Amino acid sequence: KGDEQQSQDYLFKIVMIGDSAVGKSNLLARFARNEFYPNSKSTIGVEFQTQKMHIEGKEIKAQIWDTAGQERFKAVTSAYYRGAVGALVVYDISRRQTFDSIGRWLNELHTHSDMNVVIILVGNKTDLKDEREVNTEEGKALAEAHGLFFIETSALDSSNVTAAFQTVVEEIYHIIS
Ligand code: GDP
Ligand code: MG
Repeated sequence: KGDEQQSQDYLFKIVMIGDSAVGKSNLLARFARNEFYPNSKSTIGVEFQTQKMHIEGKEIKAQIWDTAGQERFKAVTSAYYRGAVGALVVYDISRRQTFDSIGRWLNELHTHSDMNVVIILVGNKTDLKDEREVNTEEGKALAEAHGLFFIETSALDSSNVTAAFQTVVEEIYHIIS
């Protein structure tokens, strides 16, 4: 085999899950296109976005799947999860109810995907300081209890958005390489 064989291609399927309106689509829009939609209502109809990333000199394609609003009707199908090697499980730090749903999302994820899927718990909307209902320690504790990575982000002001995706992709890479 020729030289092309050395630059091996990696394609990682990563799914975004969590309650409606926690900011999943905007996290992806911020990460992939550096865009933000102040009033998004399933504006983005795409199934997934492929983002090239580089880890230890290797080119990796992260294929990141976003729901088109099906989570509103608890209708995220098994096809959505199939083959996923990573997941961002997102809640909104200004709405405790979305944090209380995390257990349900983890169950759903584990029902439909491989046990070794790399998961990061993401507390989004840190810019809403005065409206915070879930503190950082609670997020950390839940992540620790389930063996997940943890990060707090803001799709609005961009903080930690790249880091959230990068963490998942790096960990997947280290597991398979
Ligand atoms: P999804 O249903 O989980 O995909 O959530 P969306 O990405 O559609 O976001 C729902 C609403 O929250 C939209 O009005 C967004 O503009 C808003 N939003 C998303 N991320 C943030 C954030 O980090 N901070 C603030 N303040 N609003 C956000
Ligand atoms: Mg969405």
